[in-house]
Amino acid sequence: VIPPKGKPKWLRVKLPTGKKYTQLRGLVDKYDLHTICTSGSCPNMGECWGEGTATFMILGNICTRSCGFCGVKTGRPESVDWAEPEKVARSIKIMNIKHAVLTSVDRDDLKDMGSIIWAETVKAVRRMNPETTMETLIPDFQGISTHLDRILAVAPEVISHNMETVKRLTREVRIQAKYERSLEVLDYLKKNGANRTKSGIMLGLGEEEHEVIATMEDLRNADVDVVTIGQYLQPSKKHLPVKQFILPEQFKKYEEIGLEMGFRHVESGALVRSSYKAHKHIQ
Ligand code: SF4
Ligand code: SF4
Repeated sequence: VIPPKGKPKWLRVKLPTGKKYTQLRGLVDKYDLHTICTSGSCPNMGECWGEGTATFMILGNICTRSCGFCGVKTGRPESVDWAEPEKVARSIKIMNIKHAVLTSVDRDDLKDMGSIIWAETVKAVRRMNPETTMETLIPDFQGISTHLDRILAVAPEVISHNMETVKRLTREVRIQAKYERSLEVLDYLKKNGANRTKSGIMLGLGEEEHEVIATMEDLRNADVDVVTIGQYLQPSKKHLPVKQFILPEQFKKYEEIGLEMGFRHVESGALVRSSYKAHKHIQ
């Protein structure tokens, strides 16, 4: 563990390149398409876009929650755009995306918590892009089964929900969420027919190694298939500080531990984001 003074060299990234990236970048700018990849200036764009994967956020860009690590604005969200499913499906078509990751802000303000738009989006994407596979990175929907069932009913290839951190730090990192509830959501999804489930955590928030391992064990107990482990980076001075930069060897160690525990895929590395190499996780 290295004290956080300046970014270590393994976190410095080269600008994305590649023919496919340049081509997609042109389309995104021309048609004003919204991807998390560009709005979050993700370091993996060259790689992901080159493989035909991108992440799209639905249900607006203002969240009802205020997680301490997250760069999304908190407040009163705009009203629901019922044309959004079609718009997302069209973006995916224009970009010729082979594997789309869909995610959303949390909409605790809506009676259905956004689950209807979620299901409609999966359906619209499939209608317009029958070859495209999907991962839905969903909120906890406060653990309400009616909302979770709407996602299960449209059967995306992968359903993910991120724990984000270890049990002890959950209150500080995701104030409106609950560690146990997130686990229950993952467990419910798997028990009720999810094809493949997935979760992600960020490191560098002050967690101990044994706590990371305990979280991985909890995920395995909920029969989660895929785990992603990456380095937390502070989106702005107002967000939680980075307590540690985790060494590459440590990420490797978690990967080995995870594979031994029986996860189908473990993506563990400083630049790993929950949608990194997402196309692999359908296998
Ligand atoms: Fe986009 Fe996710 Fe890949 Fe980053 S890791 S480029 S957000 S798909
Ligand atoms: Fe960000 Fe999701 Fe938390 Fe909202 S619920 S603040 S989008 S991490």
